[in-house]
Order: sequence, then structure tokens, then C-alpha cells
Amino acid sequence: MSVVSNLFAGEIRVSLKTAAGILTAYPASAAALTKIAAALPKAERRRETSAKNGADVPPLLIVSTTEECNLSCKGCYACERGEKRGALPSDRVYEVLDEASELGVSVVLLAGGEPLLSHDWLNAMSKQDSMLGLVFTNGTLLDKRRLAWFAENRHLIPLLSIDGNAAQTDARRGEGVYAKVSEAMSALRSSGIPFGVSVAVTGENMGETLNSGFTEEYMQKGCRLFVYVEYVPAEAGTEALVLSKEDKRRLSDFAAQSMKEYAALFVAFPGDEEPYGGCLAAGRGFVHIGADGSLEPCPFAPFSDVSLKNTSLKDALNSALLAKVRENHHLLIEGEGGCALWRKRELLTELTQE
Ligand code: SF4
Repeated sequence: MSVVSNLFAGEIRVSLKTAAGILTAYPASAAALTKIAAALPKAERRRETSAKNGADVPPLLIVSTTEECNLSCKGCYACERGEKRGALPSDRVYEVLDEASELGVSVVLLAGGEPLLSHDWLNAMSKQDSMLGLVFTNGTLLDKRRLAWFAENRHLIPLLSIDGNAAQTDARRGEGVYAKVSEAMSALRSSGIPFGVSVAVTGENMGETLNSGFTEEYMQKGCRLFVYVEYVPAEAGTEALVLSKEDKRRLSDFAAQSMKEYAALFVAFPGDEEPYGGCLAAGRGFVHIGADGSLEPCPFAPFSDVSLKNTSLKDALNSALLAKVRENHHLLIEGEGGCALWRKRELLTELTQE
């Protein structure tokens, strides 16, 4: 197993332990996280075995569960992927998560489109309580039935997406969306379900989002996990919103300082990848599964040479393209402007054609 994967797995181990400690006020959730933390050593042994058999298994999977969404946000990278390519068949969805657990994956990020519209992935993940599921939702579809579902499945934690304050969120996501997200937060809180926020951080909203006032406001609302997602200019002409190298450092420092000050988890994504020697995509720390089952280096790099429709996860992780991306890792070093893979799209096009 690679040194990097070990290092990243170590971060996950610490975060899970911290999270279980933070959630003592939610015994059912703390118990679910403690169970996942207890399963980590076995997962790591499985990844070591896979590595000995030639498959580099990352501790984390990012899944675009569906291309469908009830919103149409500006600059949505999922919408910018172009023509829809259909969904992975339901039986394969269940099999892929079984395979992931068998291979030693510990954390699954369920994104989209809107994951609450993808019953297959949600139902399949509800059966995998030795893995942590983070459900990145736009928060506008959290009705009583789904609240009850999250209450029953404590190994699945909802993260509600916002873009700063109410005005900034509605400006990108549509009039009234922020109000619905706030209602969802109140409903989660009154149902005793811990949740997080996923904040798309841009050069424009950093002042709004990276301060103690913002943190305390959302902790008051019941939020116990803050994921700051650096903006990637999926929409042409929005490059100016991308964080500079200095901004990225400020974001990482803010997250690290907040961890010391608040009883919550703070994660910058992709954050400071320097400790890992740069970009964690293509299996170094995580891989991405497209809604159609294509296995890709990262959500922001829609390039693939293998599909889980007809290939096991183990074999797909050995894909030539993922190996080439890892081999060319020295070219994916962080610089100005967010996602290294996004900046190097031409390189990926070449590698894919090769
Ligand atoms: S909610 Fe997410 S997937 Fe849906 S349009 Fe907005 S950014 Fe895209």
C-alpha cells in the first residue's frame, strides 16, 4: 500500500475518532462512527492484501450517484459534463459497494447531481454500516421520509450545500433555495440528526465563509462538520473565482485553527495536498465513480478507460489510465488555481487517447 494512501488513511482514522468524540450528544451517531472506526484496521489489512495482489485500493471513493438534479446551479460541474450517459444498473450498484467493502474502502462520498434522487446508491449504502457515507445534498428534498431514513442510518451523514450567505447561495442556486436549506437544517436538528455543510469557497466569498461568525452561526444551527470545497471553474469565464495559492493556504490554516477551537470537524477539499506530495486523485487517496459507472481519477476530471458496468472494482482500479495519471503525478503539483487535474485537462486528454 502506498505511503500516501497510508498517510491519508491515518487522517481518516483521526477524523473518525474525533467525530465520534464530538457526537457524544448523539449516542446513535457516535455508536455508528465508533463501529466504523473499529472496522478501519480490517479495512487497512484488506487494502494491504489488495496491494500485494497488485491493486492499489484507495481508502475513499467519490460517487456521482446520478446525473439528475432538481436544481440547475450556475457553474455546476456535474451539469457541465455534457451529454447524459445513463446510470449504472441497480444490481451493479449493490455489487460495487460490496466489492468496495471487501477491498478495504472506508469512506464513500455520495454526490451527484442530487443524491437524494438516487435510491439505488442510498439503499445500497444503507447496508454498508462498516463504511462511512457522506451524502452531499442540496438540502431542498429533505422531507419527513428522508429524515427518518437518516435517523435509521447513522453511518450516513448529510452535508448540505451552500455558497456563503443567503444572497450568495440564492444567487448561484436559485431564489428561495437558502430558505429551504435552513428549514432542512432545523428539521435535522430537531430530529437529533447531526449534519454538515459543504461550502463552495471562492475568492469572492472567502471573507463571508472563513470567519468565526459564520462557523458559530452554523454550529448554532446544529452543524458539526464543515467541508470547504475549493471552487473549480467548470463554467468558462469563472476562473477569477478560483482560490490563489495564498487563499488555499489561508483556507487550510483556517480549517486547522477551527479544529482547535470548536467541537466540530473542519475539512478543506482538496485542501493542502502538499503533505501527500500533491494531488490525491487516481487512487492515491481516492477515485471517482461517474453516474454511468465510469471509473475516473476525480470528479473534476471526467476521463475514463474502464466501466464498472462490465468490470469489477478491483480490475477497474488497475486501469491503464489511472496508472498513467499516477505515473505522471509529478506533473500534477499544486500551483495557482485550485484543482491540478482540472488545469491539466489537456494532459489527461492525451493520456486517455494513448
Ligand atoms: S445542486 Fe449540485 S448537482 Fe444540482 S445543479 Fe446544483 S451544484 Fe449541480
